[in-house]
Amino acid sequence: MAALAAIPMLLSAQQAEYPVTIIPTGKGPYTFPPGYQTPWDRIEIAVTEKMSPNLFVLHGSQGLDPAHPDASGGRAMVLFGPDGVLMVDTENRQVADKTLKAIRSFTDAPIKVLVNTHIHPDHTGANAFFARQGAVIFSQENLRTEMLHPPLRADGQAGPAPDMAGIPVAIYNHNPAAPGSPAVTFTMNGETVDLIPMMPSHTAGDTIVRFRKADVIYIEDFYRNFGYPFADQANGGSVKGMLDAIDLIEKIAGSGTTLVPGHGTLVKKGDLLPYRAMLVDILAKVKTLRDQGRSPQDVLAANLTAPYDKTTQGDTQQSKDRFITEVYDEVKDFPPLVDGKRTMPRHQ
Ligand SMILES: [Zn+2]
Repeated sequence: MAALAAIPMLLSAQQAEYPVTIIPTGKGPYTFPPGYQTPWDRIEIAVTEKMSPNLFVLHGSQGLDPAHPDASGGRAMVLFGPDGVLMVDTENRQVADKTLKAIRSFTDAPIKVLVNTHIHPDHTGANAFFARQGAVIFSQENLRTEMLHPPLRADGQAGPAPDMAGIPVAIYNHNPAAPGSPAVTFTMNGETVDLIPMMPSHTAGDTIVRFRKADVIYIEDFYRNFGYPFADQANGGSVKGMLDAIDLIEKIAGSGTTLVPGHGTLVKKGDLLPYRAMLVDILAKVKTLRDQGRSPQDVLAANLTAPYDKTTQGDTQQSKDRFITEVYDEVKDFPPLVDGKRTMPRHQ
């Protein structure tokens, strides 16, 4: 009898331990044939992690999406309960109905609030879809401006007009005088949620989202552990800003706080330090070469990321070259931020 009675206690003790990983992100390596197109009809959206009894993470299938082979799309988070659903990011437009279906597998509550952490389509692609479900969309003003007036495409032409239904309507700004201060705080479903606008880092419109009770911060894409760092400079990002973003996390996160990147594995703040050290090292080495008058091709050929390849999952040539080119452009003649965008030099 005593042994039987102990079992439910053991189970509830285990259930109390969050985060719970249900589907780990893939490790690769992944390769795709030339001309491969993402088969959206085969990509599923599932609950991959639980952060608390009513705070779940959604992410896509592994091995199908060449932009994010470790798990398609960018993580979305869903806080749910009697006060309705608060979503962080939306996944891609092509899988909007699957994302909603995944949410409906655990809650019937109305979709009320959506916050966009940054503009990339794997995070905002289904904005219009979820706005039609009832979501009011929150973001930094820079993100709204980027969406209304996107940077020119690589061929110099303007992209398609934005879908106005998906444009954020509740906007706020980063205040450099008060880094880490929430612009908006929600009290919903027993949780306190802070929208914290970030300095230009992954883009010029980044927001991190802190869930105080669960002790979780969604840190979006200025940190990544699948592929090399990506500062989207055309959309206002900055490699040096990513250093500032990491330093802010060091200040506002506890040692046990779960950090949820948009891609890759969940981390704690100590895991950000080797990544920060790599950024500092590469910035210094590229600056030295650029100061010596070396061309972008010379700097790429120097293979400066070699010491990090062993410990960097998803270290494709494309990912390395993009990173080194970003740093090359940033250490000298870095274009200023204008309306959330920068006019970056073109490299063929
Ligand atoms: Zn991104």
